[in-house]
This record gives sequence, structure tokens and C-alpha cells, in this order.
Amino acid sequence: MSFSITILGSGAALPTNTRNPTAQFIECRGRRILIDCGEGTQVQFRKFGVKFQRLEYILISHLHGDHFFGLVGLLSSMHLLGRKKPIEIYGPEGLQQILDVQLQYGGSRLAFDINVHVLDTKNAGVVFEDEKIIIKHFPLSHKVPTNGFVISEKSKERTLLIEKCQRDGIKIEHYQYLKKGENVLGENGKEIRFKDYTLPAEKSKAYAFCSDTKYFEAIVPYIEKVNLLYHEATFTEEFKDRAKITLHSTANDAAGIAKRAKVGKLLMGHLSARYENGKQHLLEGQTIFKNCCVVEDGDKFEV
Ligand SMILES: [Zn+2]
Repeated sequence: MSFSITILGSGAALPTNTRNPTAQFIECRGRRILIDCGEGTQVQFRKFGVKFQRLEYILISHLHGDHFFGLVGLLSSMHLLGRKKPIEIYGPEGLQQILDVQLQYGGSRLAFDINVHVLDTKNAGVVFEDEKIIIKHFPLSHKVPTNGFVISEKSKERTLLIEKCQRDGIKIEHYQYLKKGENVLGENGKEIRFKDYTLPAEKSKAYAFCSDTKYFEAIVPYIEKVNLLYHEATFTEEFKDRAKITLHSTANDAAGIAKRAKVGKLLMGHLSARYENGKQHLLEGQTIFKNCCVVEDGDKFEV
């Protein structure tokens, strides 16, 4: 089952014709997750052919408007389109109150439950886990409390050699144990070895999301060796003073973190509206970390 990232918004604070504010749709082992929800995210879902009604989890990194102004609109549309299934929302302290006020004064009552979970923004921890995936959060360094996230697949099962099993008359109820790497006892008292009937499991993969933050080496242990890292690169070196004041990163910073963390590939985004394109970001990023790119709205990546 796939593990993919769709960029719904690749820009910073000011929306432009080509870049919406931050939002990413992640599909991981059948789980459907939205990270951040900038203004207009619901329109981006439609534009890029992703069904928002099937979302199960929404993670909000921090409460700057370009990361959550689209949330109440998205929830409202889910309601209008008949959603009944609850949704789990994870974000910093204050998110619940913001949603309450926005809904209360319009007399809006949604036909589904919104379960808001407050995330610690000072210490790392687990956002959510089930038998297939685990999502962790860790603090970034920005003007307001901000979390980064790592979404990881849990160990996968071994691949069953189904034809061989059938040929040798292995019972179906044994399959689950063989896939877990356990030997089982056959009816004749003979051991059925998992190595004879399965292939090794695929390697589990991980994706890290870091936006917004200044250059912050303390995050490296949390994102070390992930297959894919998204790191904000709001500015280029020309505006590195501006990056310092606003607690954002440059393309150099993002690439420096990617290199230190030995990640597989770096995606840079959250570009300031002052840039017409990401050419300079790419040039600067690639001098430090070769396997990088600047994302555009609508881009899709396999982890
Ligand atoms: Zn911010």
C-alpha cells in the first residue's frame, strides 16, 4: 500500500496565483492525513483530485494563519456534504477555542464530532499510533509554539509465497504467523518454517515535516535518516537577515539540516511570495545537499 505526499500548498504567509499557503495530504498504509490547512485548502483538494471527505486525521503545526485559516471552512464543507464520521484534529493549545468561537457565533452545528487533541509544543511525543503507522511530534523553533511531525510505517509483514503454500497444502490459518516470521507446527507434527514460505518484508519508510522554523539543529535526532524530509525554505541567502528576524529558514538552512540528518531526499517549500519561482532556492540548496527539490502546488511524491 502506498505512502505518498501531495503538496496542496507550497507558499508562505501571502497566497499567490501559483502558491497556496501550507497544506499537505499524506496517505500512509491506508491512513489519510492532512498536515496544516492554509486558507483555500478545500479548493486545492478539489483541484488536485483528492477527496477530503475521507480524511481521518488533521495535524496543525502552529497557529499562524497561513497554517490553519482554511480549517473551519474545510470542516464546514465536510458538514454540508453530509459527513457523519468523526474527525481527529491535533494541534497546539488554543485550537479548540478558535474553532468554538468560529462556529458558535454563526450558530453552526456540525453533524459530526470534532475531537481536538492538544499537543505538547515543548517536548517530543506521540501524536497517534495504530498497528500500521506511528506519528510523532517534536518542537521546532519559531515565533509561536510549533511542532514538526514524523510519520513512520511500522514493521511490515513478510511477503507470502502464496503458490508454494497452496502447492504444499499449507493451511490458510497458518498464513498470518508465517507472515509475522513465526514457524508453525503442521498436522503431521513437522515444522513449517516461515523462511521457506515467505520473502523478507519491505523496509519501513518515514516522512518528516518541518515548517515553520529557524535553522534548528536540535531537530536532527527526530528526523535522522527519514526517506523524505520537507523543510521550509522561506528565503534565499539574500534575505538571510529577514529569516533570522522572522525565525524562518533559508534554502541553505534546509539543506544543512537535510545533510546533518542524512535524509534520503529533501523537499523545500513555504516560499515567500517575493519569489517568482524556486530557481535560486534550488541552486543554493543543491550546493549543500544534492538530492533536493522545490515543491509546487499539486506535486505528488512517493516516500
Ligand atoms: Zn509561522
